[in-house]
Order: sequence, then C-alpha cells, then structure tokens
Amino acid sequence: MTRRVFRRAILVSLLLLGAAGAASYTVKAGDTLYSVARANETTVAELTRLNRLAGTALKVGQVLTLPGGTPAAAPSTPAPSNSVTLTPPAPSAGTSSLQGVTVRVPASLKMGDGFTLRLSGTRAGQATVRFPSEVGEDVRRPNEVLKPIGAAGEFLVTGRVVLGKTTPVVYEVRVGGDLVRGQIPVMGLDQPIQHLNLPASVTNKLQDPARAAEEAAVEKAYARRTPQVWSRPFAPALATARGTSSGFGQPRTYLAGGPVAYHYGTDYPAPTGTSVLAINDGTVVLAGKYPVRGGLVVIDHGAGVVSMYFHQSRVLAKVGQKVTRGQKIGEVGTTGLSAGPHLHLEVRVRGEATSPAGWMNRLWPR
Ligand SMILES: [Zn+2]
Repeated sequence: MTRRVFRRAILVSLLLLGAAGAASYTVKAGDTLYSVARANETTVAELTRLNRLAGTALKVGQVLTLPGGTPAAAPSTPAPSNSVTLTPPAPSAGTSSLQGVTVRVPASLKMGDGFTLRLSGTRAGQATVRFPSEVGEDVRRPNEVLKPIGAAGEFLVTGRVVLGKTTPVVYEVRVGGDLVRGQIPVMGLDQPIQHLNLPASVTNKLQDPARAAEEAAVEKAYARRTPQVWSRPFAPALATARGTSSGFGQPRTYLAGGPVAYHYGTDYPAPTGTSVLAINDGTVVLAGKYPVRGGLVVIDHGAGVVSMYFHQSRVLAKVGQKVTRGQKIGEVGTTGLSAGPHLHLEVRVRGEATSPAGWMNRLWPR
C-alpha cells in the first residue's frame, strides 16, 4: 500500500512539474507491456492506445507515455533488435536437489507454456510443490497425492505460465523440513496485435445476457481436480491438418479501438461438418450451445487438465460420457463468436490456457 501511494506521489509531482512528456516510463531489460501496465496501474490496451503501439514487443530504452502524460506524436518505429521479451536472463541449471529428492524443471519457458516439474529419488513421493509466483496457485488439493509415472518412478507436477506474464516462474519443493526453491526464466511470445474488426452481428454476442451463465459453467470446469485418466500421448482434434488461422497467445482486438485480449486457444480452419475428435481420454463435463463459445465440449482429462472445443455446428458428446482419444465428439462449425468455420481448441491447466501445440504427440508438455 505504501509503495502504491509513493508511486502515485511521484506521478503527481511529475504532472505538477509539467515537464515535456510528463508521465512516461523508460523500458528496462525484462519489462513487458503487461508488467509496465501493472506497475503503473494501467492496462495493456491503454498503453497501446497512448503510444500507438503496433505490437506487444518493447525495446530497452523505449519511452512509453503513461496515462496523464503527453501522447506520442507519431507511431513508434519498430527497432530492428533487442526485443527484451526475447532476451531471457541466464538460464538456470534446470536441476536442483534436496536430500532424497531430485527436482527437474525446464531451463526456460515461454508465456502460455504448460510444463512439468519432475521429482525423483527415495523421498519424491512425500514432496509438496508450490508455484508461489502464480497468485492463487493451488497445485494440489488437501489429500491429493502424487502418483509415480513410468518405469523410472518419477513424480510429475504440471505447471503453466499464465498468458501476459513474463516474470520468472518460482517453484518450491518441500520434504519434511527441507525446502528447495528455484526459478525458471520466461520469454514473451512477441506477436503483433491482430485487429479482427468483427461485424457488430458477431460481437453483439459479447453482450448476450446468457454469457454470465456460460462463464460460470466454464469456471466450474476449470476448478475440477480429478485423477489423471490419460496414459497415451495427446493427439490432434482434426484428422486432417490444414494449418492454423489464429495462433495461441495472439494479442488481438475484436472491434477497431477495442481492448486487447489474448487468444487462449489455437484456431484450426476446416469445413463445417468436419469431425472433431477428443485429443485424449477423459470425461465430458460440458456439452451444449453457448453465446460466445458456440457449440462447446469440455473434456476433463484429470490432473487439472481440460480440453475445450468451440464453435461446433453439432455437439454429439453428452455430459458425463467417458470418451477415448480420437473419438468423435462433434462437428466443426462457426457458432458463437466466430467469423467462419473453424475449431478453436484450448488446453487448460488448473484453469489457465496453455499452448495446445506443447501437448500434441506427448504425454506431458516438456
Ligand atoms: Zn479461437
């Protein structure tokens, strides 16, 4: 609280001085648009508007106008190099240990990655794991126990990097009174903002009164914690690959001048009626028509992992149904907030969207 008041005081004094370009911020290494917005109590959308930014990449030394400052006179010219979001701190070793437990984590991560923290050793099964860098993170519920995986008897905990965050992921592993704490550097995705300029007939769905019920239903699905049911690698949701039309993590606006939102899934264009397949074994926890997601199926795979299939023309799966990898659950369409036939696929870990590509043809993301 004191810090916030202090920051406000600085902002006010800058404004009182009336210096040219008053409230501004000079980008330092490690900053992202999101971190600057948070530190200055504003939003990515507001910084984008004020500074006429074409993308989310920032350059060290770039001066950003903050709310209350003099807006940028001309669009900022993209500098050729030194994109700070692509310059990670020195990678950590990726392995640490405490007595009886070896902890392995990826050396570095990207925003929106799913990942695994692997524990091995004689006391690995007794370890508790936390990701204190994720606010409200709840890796394991009370009474939830880790199960050993594979011949090596490793214990796996799934983690994820929240979209919009490029601060390091901090992990803590505790066994009895011993604690090991480490961090994994995170890089941004550095994608330009995509302006969809959807017609009002499509974006009107954002105002649908049934949206509150839709959001409540998906939040309930995110909160599920059931045992892992898959034992084979994840597989694509469409039998024929035709590429993607909008990538995971893409920052975009729906309406000209509207707020910037991240794309929480990957869009695969396909003709209406194309079979949509379960990406792995699981239980159907939502199946129906919703204002924004359209014809929606949500499959709980256990271990806090759910897959979601949007905009379908037909929903064939039923709530409570057990499905297996490759089983048809519906058909591609353009229902809900959609401008053409495609499948929007999301893979969420404890409610946060992770890159679907990171799961394909693998048992776990790396
Ligand atoms: Zn999409």
